Amino acid sequence: MFTIVEAGDPVLRQQAQPLSTEEILSESTQVLIEMMGEIMRSAPGVGLAAPQIGVSVQVLVIEDRPEYHLRLTEDELCERERVSVPFHVLINPTLSIDDAREVRFFEGCLSVPGYQAIVPRAYAVRVDAFDAQAQPITIHAQGWYARILQHEIDHLHGTLCIDRMQSCTLTSHENYKRFWQGKSRNEILNAFSAIKNTEILQDSPSILR
Ligand code: ZN
Repeated sequence: MFTIVEAGDPVLRQQAQPLSTEEILSESTQVLIEMMGEIMRSAPGVGLAAPQIGVSVQVLVIEDRPEYHLRLTEDELCERERVSVPFHVLINPTLSIDDAREVRFFEGCLSVPGYQAIVPRAYAVRVDAFDAQAQPITIHAQGWYARILQHEIDHLHGTLCIDRMQSCTLTSHENYKRFWQGKSRNEILNAFSAIKNTEILQDSPSILR
């Protein structure tokens, strides 16, 4: 019934609508949430925003499963501060920055299939939202989970990661595997800095370890 829409579809550029308590608890929203969970897992992806299946409402699902981590090395997981995140739903989320230091990693999007690019993101964020039962929740996240939250909440405001990427780093998945997978962040940033302007590719100094 639903499929993932790709960049170029105007729905990905719209401001998604917030939901009232009644709307959150309605059968149509509960069905939407269930569908989104299934679509995210079959993609597979670690997050999905309702506009990505053509529904312009402020609903996200997120889940970072341990099996997704098997293709990353220990060093890659550690550097990204990537840990498992159980399935959860965020409705009408608002994002604020807890720690604005920028961190740069390759990032992809189900709506921009086939490619990834380095996207600077804030290190730590706070999200206030409602869950699927319309109860208020607050999340403090850092590392990879903070990146997922920033990426998905952007979708609700018509922003894609390609708007924030460092465009000279755009890479097909095939070339990511060939040239960049398994390399440390410093190796990658140094390699790109050697090709392009150094200034644009630096992390905040305090993030570099
Ligand atoms: Zn996305």
